[in-house]
Amino acid sequence: MVKERARILVVGGGYVGMYTALRLQHRMKREIARDELEITVVTPDPYMTYQPFLPEAAAGAISPRHVVVPLRRVLGRCRVIAGEVTRIDHARRTATLTTPATQEKGGTETLTYDELVLAPGSVSRTLPIPGLLDYGIGFKTVEEAIGLRNHVIEQMDIASSTRDPAIRDAALTFVFVGGGYAGVEALGELEDMARYAARYYHNLKPEDMKWILVEASDRILPEVGEEMGRYTVTQLRRRNIQVLLGTRLESCADRVAHLSDGQRFPTRTVVWTAGVKPHPLLAATDLPRDERGRLKCTAELTVEGVAHAWSAGDAAAVPDVTAAEPGALTAPNAQHAVRQAKVLADNIAHALRGEPLERYAHKYVGSVASLGLHKGVAQVYGRRLKGYPAWFMHRAYHLSRVPTFNRKARVLAEWTLAGLFKREIVSLGSLEHPRAEFELAAGGKHPLDPNINPKGSS
Ligand SMILES: Cc1cc2nc3c(=O)[nH]c(=O)nc-3n(C[C@H](O)[C@H](O)[C@H](O)COP(=O)(O)OP(=O)(O)OC[C@H]3O[C@@H](n4cnc5c(N)ncnc54)[C@H](O)[C@@H]3O)c2cc1C
Repeated sequence: MVKERARILVVGGGYVGMYTALRLQHRMKREIARDELEITVVTPDPYMTYQPFLPEAAAGAISPRHVVVPLRRVLGRCRVIAGEVTRIDHARRTATLTTPATQEKGGTETLTYDELVLAPGSVSRTLPIPGLLDYGIGFKTVEEAIGLRNHVIEQMDIASSTRDPAIRDAALTFVFVGGGYAGVEALGELEDMARYAARYYHNLKPEDMKWILVEASDRILPEVGEEMGRYTVTQLRRRNIQVLLGTRLESCADRVAHLSDGQRFPTRTVVWTAGVKPHPLLAATDLPRDERGRLKCTAELTVEGVAHAWSAGDAAAVPDVTAAEPGALTAPNAQHAVRQAKVLADNIAHALRGEPLERYAHKYVGSVASLGLHKGVAQVYGRRLKGYPAWFMHRAYHLSRVPTFNRKARVLAEWTLAGLFKREIVSLGSLEHPRAEFELAAGGKHPLDPNINPKGSS
């Protein structure tokens, strides 16, 4: 029984947003049924993205629809609004948002609430590098992952269709910047997929492709520990992937990647996975932030010094109460986000019922990473695994973690079928321009050759 009727606003439908709402609607179903509680989730896309599967989606091992979880289906007792919160005035308990409908009219909408869960996650941390804005490709969303897959196969098609060595060379050079799990897994999976696809091209060999990983520090994959990081470097180099440590991308203007070690690579592919920064929405609130821009939080996942405001995940600076050194914060990863969401939901329920709050305490257990089909690296509970066992563990772990039985069954079916049939190697880049064919038929310009007149007159 809650003390008084409460409207909970959850901003963000990712790990924290979805798991918080899911647990709250389960724990407080009676209050929701009696109309004592209302949960509203606002998020730009009405689905949660299981980001650890993005590299496999890019490689074609999992179809894009199975990497996402439909929020309207899993959050049946909540209101899900497809929209973007642009400002929060917590003192007045109001959030300003834009939705597809308000955008058509050029306006905004205002929502009022009693409890705020602010979980917009993070965005790519970019640097003012010439050309990055024009040519850089991110790797945080399912759209980017599928776009990158199509792009890589398109580059192979371009290289295969030309005799110009400069065009061919640039098309077959793939530069990834950032050696965290997003960059290493994306590169590992895509190189593996492209190596496989090359056998179906009459004039392409895997050796014709240049795959380059650029990392500013002297190690990669810090999540799996130093030894496993070194092992990963050796494995990638054995696959002819250039791993350039202590090196930075200085420019990619005019489609040429200039590196700090003086090397330059003409390329049409620069994938930027050099870390994340807190979501800019946090700056458009009246809530306290730390020097890195994350919301200052307590171990109970309340926003420090502010009543009725909660946060967790990539957007929140949460004290790591399990760490030996004082002032340590929990790292921005899914492992913490999921567990924090559960404590956060429980604490909101406690607060509404006038009960004491729990502290979030979880010791990081390690990480698993896939480096392509049957290749992986892992360090979990101090145990190190390499190659096939690590890859298997990666799949087993993420299968157990991906939300809903429906998604687990679909992903497992896809993996099983992939073991029986050949891999998919088509690019469906044209899906990004679904009207092109019709426009051409209706007399528009051909996207590649404006001299082609579809009406047939000269
Ligand atoms: C490619 C990749 C691979 C990864 N692999 C791993 C891994 O193997 N293991 C691991 O532990 N972690 C991994 N991570 C990190 C992990 O996914 C994040 O730490 C986790 O998603 C953080 O959860 P979150 O809820 O804070 O943010 P998110 O899950 O990013 O959710 C944020 C949500 O807020 C929404 N939002 C954004 N702006 C607004 C707005 N203005 N209004 C309303 N909603 C908004 C977003 O659309 C999104 O739904 C990976 C990340 C990436 C990109």
